[in-house]
Amino acid sequence: MKCKEYVFKLTSGQLDDAPVEERLQAKFHRLACKYCRAFTRNDAKLDAVLEGFREHVVKKTDQDV
Ligand SMILES: [Zn+2]
Repeated sequence: MKCKEYVFKLTSGQLDDAPVEERLQAKFHRLACKYCRAFTRNDAKLDAVLEGFREHVVKKTDQDV
């Protein structure tokens, strides 16, 4: 699962309805990717996080976990 995919599913609420398998993939992605972990934790106050996060997703640091 790539960062973009993860974030899309998270922000669109799809993770809540996703099959266990997919939620597990999301969980592993969070474990492996500190950016998405921070993003998830700070979901409520996005602005500061989004700043660094946008770079993370746009640049080559995108993690496929
Ligand atoms: Zn990520």
